[in-house]
Amino acid sequence: PPRGQVLLEATAASKHFGGLKAVNEVTLDVRAGEVHALIGPNGAGKSTFFNMVSGVIDLTSGGVRVMGQDMKNRPSRHFAALGLGRTFQHVRLMAHRSVLDNVALGAHRRGQRGWIAAMLRLDRAEEATLLAHARRQLERCQLEGHAAEAAGSLALGQQRVIEIARALAGQPALLLLDEPAAGLRHLEKLALAQLLSQLRAEGLGILVVEHDMEFVMNLADRVTVMEFGTVIARGTPAQVQADPRVLEAYLGV
Ligand code: ADP
Ligand code: MG
Repeated sequence: PPRGQVLLEATAASKHFGGLKAVNEVTLDVRAGEVHALIGPNGAGKSTFFNMVSGVIDLTSGGVRVMGQDMKNRPSRHFAALGLGRTFQHVRLMAHRSVLDNVALGAHRRGQRGWIAAMLRLDRAEEATLLAHARRQLERCQLEGHAAEAAGSLALGQQRVIEIARALAGQPALLLLDEPAAGLRHLEKLALAQLLSQLRAEGLGILVVEHDMEFVMNLADRVTVMEFGTVIARGTPAQVQADPRVLEAYLGV
């Protein structure tokens, strides 16, 4: 998609768990060629919002569009088929399988079948194509040197990049990352920020949930701040950082 095109659009999207308004009328969009950061304290509703806009959970009310298509309450594989790739807050890798295998499994996201069925039905030529494609994603993420190692044996920072490589294997236009920098060392964070900048330059739209203020502020084009399920501020990193409500709610000053 051309730079600036709206890839993801949530309109007054809400999710209630019983009496709890975990996400309350959140409106935001993500465009091709930008990093949009979603920040806020623990429990603000960020992960719930991610699950709503990737088809993992249904909306209580409001709307979600991907590539201009109405996706409300459609299953996650339909989101994936339109070009949405995502990672989860907690690393979800098959620790004993190779880095390459983990990434190869991400390439099945466009298919209608589950990946197990797909793997079982692959002939040798298809398998070779798939692995070559996975290897290209590892190169894109500078992980090719670790292709044969067990995913679980790598450092946390590398495991998070494997998850991104796996999402990239589905050739997404839109990438949703839930706290990719959590638990990373300083140098790992710099490498991650570098990778995300590179993907943005390639034209991907990226929505990143992050707790790490410094990481977000050096990377994001736009920032949306949530607290108690609602949006309390939005703007450029500089605007959001200067907003008294954000300082109070998020930084506790
Ligand atoms: P964040 O990712 O910003 O830390 P979450 O989206 O995980 O916040 O959670 C937002 C709120 O919704 C929290 O109060 C959490 O306890 C609640 N919550 C999340 N998922 C569920 C669920 N499946 N059932 C009930 N409450 C939930
Ligand atoms: Mg969360």
